[in-house]
Amino acid sequence: MTQPSRRLVILGATGTVGVQALELLKTSPALEVVALSAHTRQSELIDLAAPSGGRTFLTDDPQQNQGLLEFLRQGEYHICLNAVVGAAGLPYSEAVLKAGKDLALANKESMVLAGELLTKLAEKTGSTILPVDSEHSAIHQCLRGEQGNAIRNLYLTASGGALRDLQTDEFANVTPQQALAHPNWDMGPRITIDSATMMNKALEIIEACHLFALPAEQVQVLVHRQSVVHSMVEFADGSMLAQLGPPDMTYPIHYALYYPNRPSSNLPGFDAKLFAKLTFEEPDTQRFPALTLGWRAAKLGGAAGAVLNAADEIAVEAFLQQQIRFLDIYALCANALEQMPDLQANTIAQVQAADQWARQFTSRSIEKQIQAASGVSKS
Ligand code: MG
Repeated sequence: MTQPSRRLVILGATGTVGVQALELLKTSPALEVVALSAHTRQSELIDLAAPSGGRTFLTDDPQQNQGLLEFLRQGEYHICLNAVVGAAGLPYSEAVLKAGKDLALANKESMVLAGELLTKLAEKTGSTILPVDSEHSAIHQCLRGEQGNAIRNLYLTASGGALRDLQTDEFANVTPQQALAHPNWDMGPRITIDSATMMNKALEIIEACHLFALPAEQVQVLVHRQSVVHSMVEFADGSMLAQLGPPDMTYPIHYALYYPNRPSSNLPGFDAKLFAKLTFEEPDTQRFPALTLGWRAAKLGGAAGAVLNAADEIAVEAFLQQQIRFLDIYALCANALEQMPDLQANTIAQVQAADQWARQFTSRSIEKQIQAASGVSKS
């Protein structure tokens, strides 16, 4: 047996992706886990860290969070899997790239909030950003060896989410339970709701623009119900490449952690015979208007991604708490983009300020809405 050669850090170890990564390493042990973080679930974190003996950081504790950032900046590792949920993941991504280390990025918010900053930083320090998002991993794989070849379009595939067959007039009464029932993927609650609104795809448009340095016009979306074609690239010569596989995050995690190698794994291949028919449809932006906000924010650039993401985080949380209705999620996000003041996004601090503005703006909008609904009026 060969000695572990690559030192790995896992952030968000108790989340869906973190747990899948650790599960994967049990049968594919060429990576040494040197540190793990979780936000609050301390006992789970300790259990997960036990087999490797890696250091643990509980980021809910300000001192330990500071310690984690310090650890990431020191760079005593080769690759970091950032599987933190939400905008909170950004400072870790920055610290990893500043240290010149490779970043396996499951925290898409890092790219949505500060894609331009982070890609520039990676270029400067020589880090590689490896997307751990099935669509972007697919595109990354399709683009290998294609440097310098022009791209016509990227096609991000979308399952359509839990509500893909709902009629327009049924959206008003969607419950959290309905929206959480994803047909193909097993994911955390926020991203599952984001799939139901298709906001997840909107954020993935922004993510793709940054990762692959393309304008919004060249990033298309196709509803693909079977979730086995993870995305496609159309080159200038009209040729298209697609990457296929079961809808299981373990594959993009494995790809990112071992890149540029493809070591053997116990993962089953993709049985094409099980899919006699693969379908691709134009997304319906009437029923899923949130999708349009992705192109909108990508075109606006600057702090628009941060604003859209923050508004959505707040709105989704309020929906899960049953404070607002399903259609309010889109309305609140669209309004935040509409009302966004001239916010800068040239530094991480500025991006965080934009994020804060959108959180406060959206929270206030929700409060006003709740007050109006309950008939309480403030004079
Ligand atoms: Mg995805």
